[in-house]
Amino acid sequence: MDLDAILKEIQEEIQKYFTKGKLPNYIPMLAQADESDFAMSIITLDGEEYHIGCSNKKFSIQSISKVFTFTLALEHYSKELYKRVGHEPSGDPFNSLVQLEYESGIPRNPFINAGAIVTTDCLASIFEDNAFNEILDFMKKVSGDQNISFDKNIFISELGHGFQNFALINLMKSYHNIKNPIDDVIQIYFKQCSIMMTTKQLAHSMLFLANHGKDPLTNESILNESKAKRINSLMLTCGHYDASGDFAYKVGLPGKSGVGGGIVAVVPKKMAISVYSPKLNVYGNSLIGTKALELFTTKTGLSIF
Ligand code: GLU
Repeated sequence: MDLDAILKEIQEEIQKYFTKGKLPNYIPMLAQADESDFAMSIITLDGEEYHIGCSNKKFSIQSISKVFTFTLALEHYSKELYKRVGHEPSGDPFNSLVQLEYESGIPRNPFINAGAIVTTDCLASIFEDNAFNEILDFMKKVSGDQNISFDKNIFISELGHGFQNFALINLMKSYHNIKNPIDDVIQIYFKQCSIMMTTKQLAHSMLFLANHGKDPLTNESILNESKAKRINSLMLTCGHYDASGDFAYKVGLPGKSGVGGGIVAVVPKKMAISVYSPKLNVYGNSLIGTKALELFTTKTGLSIF
């Protein structure tokens, strides 16, 4: 299969969608992204790489960070983690408060904001003041690249405007599902969201999930096969908020999006893919990124179904 040619075809076919979608403005710094940016990277389990567009440009990974923090927390807490965060799709927007109230402060899954904030709280309990550095180190390990950091301006922008997330964490604290001081936890959460990565780094960082928990390029075991299966299942069922069903229907791969415009996807036993395009659809997922992945699975037949 000529993946370079397929990436070129995808790049041509997505051009007509650049007029659609919107930059997110509830985090003002994210509204400054370049609307015309597009990048797509594929890395196979045997290390072949295919890139198109601005694949060396860093962007804010936002909610893609939730996959890494959940992986780290699952490693340390195992099944105990599910007492504080569930594993069912929410069917609600990423920052919804409604469900959280009638389910007594236990978020539906780790990939909505409430669930990710609880996950970060769990990491804060283990790593204390070093929690953010541990998250960053973990991301450097899985992406095989030491050159990863967070963007202070994006962090400050979200800290000044993340009112909904403050509401979520306060509600969960009132239900005793946040153990550490809320200011500490929310800052770690906003920092992890403002980590900057390229599609190339992100594609590498997902390879362990395409390979039963082991990085195929370094042979390092990141987590066991059963946990890797569970994270892939969560990405398939919960990775795109209330559009998770639509993403599974159109793309047919486990994936996770972020409001920074990135999406990662896993083709089990074959490859990892990352796409970037900052304008979002109404569900808060990259509009062109979703379209590009749909075109990819249609053209290659490489979906899990
Ligand atoms: N930092 C964003 C928020 O908490 C993450 C949301 C996303 O990427 O979908 O609102």
